[in-house]
Amino acid sequence: MDLTKHAFFEGKIVPLSEAKVSVATHGFLYGTAVFSGMRAYWNEEKHALFLFRPYDHFRRLLESGRMLAMEIPYDEEGLIRLAIDLLKHDNYQQDVYMRPTIYKADMGIGVRLHNLRDELSIFTAPYEAYVQNDMNSHVTISSWRRVDDNMIPARSKVAGSYVNSALAKTDANRAGFDEALVLNADGHISEGSAMNVFMVRNGVLYTPPITDNILEGITRRSVMEVAQKEFGLEVVERSIDRTEILIADEVFLTGSAAQIVAVTKIDFRPVGSGSMGPITTKLRTFYEDVVRARTQKYASWNVEVK
Ligand code: PMP
Repeated sequence: MDLTKHAFFEGKIVPLSEAKVSVATHGFLYGTAVFSGMRAYWNEEKHALFLFRPYDHFRRLLESGRMLAMEIPYDEEGLIRLAIDLLKHDNYQQDVYMRPTIYKADMGIGVRLHNLRDELSIFTAPYEAYVQNDMNSHVTISSWRRVDDNMIPARSKVAGSYVNSALAKTDANRAGFDEALVLNADGHISEGSAMNVFMVRNGVLYTPPITDNILEGITRRSVMEVAQKEFGLEVVERSIDRTEILIADEVFLTGSAAQIVAVTKIDFRPVGSGSMGPITTKLRTFYEDVVRARTQKYASWNVEVK
């Protein structure tokens, strides 16, 4: 982490080195925090930085907070303003990752959600590639199951629930895989450790529905819209069987950090031809233009930092 950068912490912008919580903070003790992972992209031609879909990210953050009985004095627009102020403060001229968190900020023991103070923090970091093999990743189907909506809501980004993702990811990496695909309790494919999943069969794009314990991904939503509008693809939200994904023509993962990652092997079985397929390739290229504010049509998704 670059500690000379700044963070929004307890109501003001401070050096990241000063943005500290106590070991007795509720969010640290019990994982009672919700967060967002969003990105700002540097556009060299326009010499400007653009946040990608910040309204949607902050909306999901506030919704996640609502599920955890959290209240902060900002709406989506207010949060966008804060995010822009913070990015301007460090005068970034490169791609940036941004992590807003709402957390239970009181100190002390006692598991609950009510009668606790909530705080907002935001920090930024120069962006580094999230997945190394993003054009030919080898994934495994994890033995860990995805958290269920009646345990910890998968549709929200609750800090504590990322233990579930971390277990799947570490076991996959230690076994030599790039990523994990995680099944629901009922055995259907839900998503990756921190990415949604798509499969192509006979030219149709399939992705699990939001009722299959997935995070309601913003990249997922963007890809679905672009696939339909730009490439005329049929996009179907329905459950995907474990064996069905093994015989798909193409598989890819989507996420704000990961962007679009081609999966070319699942548990040693090649996906389709065994190399990145034509639909994944087209979507990746177009998505890169969209996030970098190079398309007119999707310009409303790019919010300039100014
Ligand atoms: N699923 C999980 C569990 C995630 O952590 C992420 C990353 N936020 C995603 C999916 C992808 O969501 P998004 O496209 O909104 O980043």
